[in-house]
Amino acid sequence: MDRSEQLFEAAKRVLPGGVNSPVRAFRAVGMAPRFITRADGAYIHDADGRSYIDYVCSWGPMILGHNHPAVREAVEEAVKDGLSFGAPTEREVEIARLMVELVPNIEMVRMVNSGTEAVMSALRLARGATGREKLIKFEGCYHGHSDCMLVNAGSSALAGGHPSSAGVPVGAAKDTLTAQFNDLQSVEVLLNENAGEVAAVIVEPVAANMGVVGPAPGFLEGLRALCDKHGALLIFDEVITGFRLALGGAQEFFGVRADIVTFGKIIGGGMPVGAYCASRALMEQVAPCGSVYQAGTLSGNPVAMAAGLAQLRYLKAHPEVYSGINGYAARLADGLREIAARTGTGVRINQVGSVLSPFFTPDDVNTFTDAKGSDVGKYARYFAGMLERGVYLAPAQFEAMFVSAAHSGEDLRRTLEAAGEVLGAL
Ligand SMILES: *Cc1c(COP(=O)(O)O)cnc(C)c1O
Repeated sequence: MDRSEQLFEAAKRVLPGGVNSPVRAFRAVGMAPRFITRADGAYIHDADGRSYIDYVCSWGPMILGHNHPAVREAVEEAVKDGLSFGAPTEREVEIARLMVELVPNIEMVRMVNSGTEAVMSALRLARGATGREKLIKFEGCYHGHSDCMLVNAGSSALAGGHPSSAGVPVGAAKDTLTAQFNDLQSVEVLLNENAGEVAAVIVEPVAANMGVVGPAPGFLEGLRALCDKHGALLIFDEVITGFRLALGGAQEFFGVRADIVTFGKIIGGGMPVGAYCASRALMEQVAPCGSVYQAGTLSGNPVAMAAGLAQLRYLKAHPEVYSGINGYAARLADGLREIAARTGTGVRINQVGSVLSPFFTPDDVNTFTDAKGSDVGKYARYFAGMLERGVYLAPAQFEAMFVSAAHSGEDLRRTLEAAGEVLGAL
């Protein structure tokens, strides 16, 4: 048994499944997980001294690569002044100002501690502001693990074969209606059937928890128009796409306006942070201004704010990061397609900006149904082969690959070389 395997055995005795978040257990690929000791740039290193080119990037936050000096130094400085005050700090104002400056259509920000919390609070705000209770989400989209969003969810809720969860009361789930991603008609039907009752439509502007599935031309625009027509709010869950597709996120990238936007992942720079943002009129309905209650002991934590602020400032000062990571992802996608064609492997590569994923199917993947057509057994073999060759991919089909600014041309060459061997052998 190597060190990771020993640690996993020890972990399973005290942590359910040996982990603190299900996907990390590698069950979807039928292996034992690697235990990670440290990470630097594009690389993570495990307890057995092996190194991997990392395309998980902590599931997205590490857009500048691991252990980036700008972020690390900001955290080191902040730590010296104390870890938590439970009182306002100047840094909270600075990060909120920066977000309002960079993200279209938002005037105010409320910081929370995770993407789950951001979505949960955004939904409460939408319900409070509209006086309506029903929500529309898309099958296969993931919005964190709050009760009313664990209905036909994606990500590891999907990989585990449990699209929803035990313990979610029927009452909490009954007001969540599910439509089909990239199918406007499925949304229109629900809005008509529930006229005057739908508070919000929530969507991942690029679905990235069913593998990566981009919005079809006109889909997001169509959602905007339908929401306007029916008096429902449009929520963009930008926990992945925020500050990744562009500084202004999906709203800027696709030119579509959302009413409420949720963030997480990148805005924490690797620390636990989330946020929900909207117009002043909406945000002033949140306590202590308004009657929508939401609070947090560690919200706006000074160390977490230092990390997030440093990362967002760096991104603003270096817009070339976006052309770099998007270009890398496009070359990686093209390279993988070429290998697939050469080796006769039925693989579809979806890529939007710096997120991408392979589907083991000969058909185009534009919907959740298409995504479910992927051969997950093949994905598991592909994953294992890549890991053996020093490339760390998402340990489940229904997740994304993330590119960071630390990935180099040499990393790209090595990744494609490994993929050539692995796909060739499948
Ligand atoms: C990761 C994710 C969440 C949940 O964020 P956590 O920080 O894990 O709670 C919500 N929405 C989307 C789109 C995500 O990818």
